[in-house]
Amino acid sequence: MALVVQKFGGTSMGSIERIKHVAKRVLQEKEKGNDVVVVVSAMAGETDRLINLVKEITPEPNERDMDFVVSTGEQVSAGLLSIVLNNMGYPAVSLTGWQAGIKTDNAFTKARILDIDVERIKKHLKEGKLVVITGFQGITEGGDITTLGRGGSDTSAVALAAALNADRCDIYTDVDGVYTADPRIVPQAKRIDVLSYEEMLELASLGAKVLQIRSVEFAMKYNVPLRVRSTFTEDEGTLIKEEDETMERVVVRGIAHNKNEARITVERVPDKPGIAARIFDALAEANIPVDMIVQNVSVDGYTDISFTVEKNDASKAERITKEVANEIGARNVIRDDRIAKVSVVGLGMRSHAGVAGKVFETLAKYGINIVMISTSEIKISCIVEEKFTELAVRVLHEAFGLDKNE
Ligand code: ADP
Ligand code: ASP
Ligand code: MG
Repeated sequence: MALVVQKFGGTSMGSIERIKHVAKRVLQEKEKGNDVVVVVSAMAGETDRLINLVKEITPEPNERDMDFVVSTGEQVSAGLLSIVLNNMGYPAVSLTGWQAGIKTDNAFTKARILDIDVERIKKHLKEGKLVVITGFQGITEGGDITTLGRGGSDTSAVALAAALNADRCDIYTDVDGVYTADPRIVPQAKRIDVLSYEEMLELASLGAKVLQIRSVEFAMKYNVPLRVRSTFTEDEGTLIKEEDETMERVVVRGIAHNKNEARITVERVPDKPGIAARIFDALAEANIPVDMIVQNVSVDGYTDISFTVEKNDASKAERITKEVANEIGARNVIRDDRIAKVSVVGLGMRSHAGVAGKVFETLAKYGINIVMISTSEIKISCIVEEKFTELAVRVLHEAFGLDKNE
């Protein structure tokens, strides 16, 4: 008998009819004789709706209250699934994050899981019950409800699989696996059968929101094999596992894009030691992660510094940067929300030259201006104007031959 963690996303839980379908997928697994722990997202659109209610009041709410409101979507869907299962004659129990023992730090709206006390879950499994747990939420040491960031139910599922030493973690969603690009943008995208944790981590970090980044980090750290598959078909989906020697043969594995960043530019900053530290320390203190950073060549002892942050953090980051800019005598702070990051990812980039050149050439050919560039061993990212996102993804996908069968 195996222990399987199944996670169902928002679209899969989008209506009572769909929840009844999810119940069937859960029972398929149960009927194989396995113990099943189910992690669910809020019903489709619900988390957005809750966030918008809060934002109608203020753009910068108290984050504890924000989590208090936004975490409720998952409680509804977990309860509904448990009711459906019980109604079908299969004993089930619904648990919130705190009831399931999911302990997090205090970073409201983007909390990290510190530890999971699995006693209660194990007790219910021993009673023969299906255990349905709210994704996305946890509890701080002081007893406050936290949420794990958008897409956080993936992380709840993988962390539970690791803590329970589960045999498998299956992420059921509205696509039948991980594709070479977001299939909503590139209809020719191909499904990837197997890929490494590292590639998935880059793709997720760069915007392929099919999995939350932290979920892949957890899977990699605890070596939990992850499968991304469709709720609506029987297809096996994509397996994400440890790297093996065949994987490096693929130079470019996929293209990711992210419209969820904003660029902040500090103009005419005195070019002196310690100035960058002042800006980025202040942002770090406010728990705002910074992604790309570019500093221009200095002219007359002054320079410009640009960086990107998540759009969610942009208004707070702009305010903090303006305060620091005043203190250090910079001229101006400009915020641009209409940017996007387009990235090319593949393990084989470690050992193949020429990928960067091809990316720049391709974008230039279509008149797409590159605003910022960043690279790592296995990726190249370019910031472009937001209106060019879809075009950039499509032309890069084609340029690297990803629409052709291997
Ligand atoms: P869920 O609600 O099940 O968590 P998400 O919307 O978070 O689902 O993630 C699934 C979506 O991720 C897909 O519908 C697809 O549009 C998007 N996506 C982005 N990049 C990719 C990719 N490379 N492969 C598959 N799906 C992707
Ligand atoms: N409901 C949350 C969100 O929409 C968490 C999740 O679905 O994973 O971000
Ligand atoms: Mg998701």
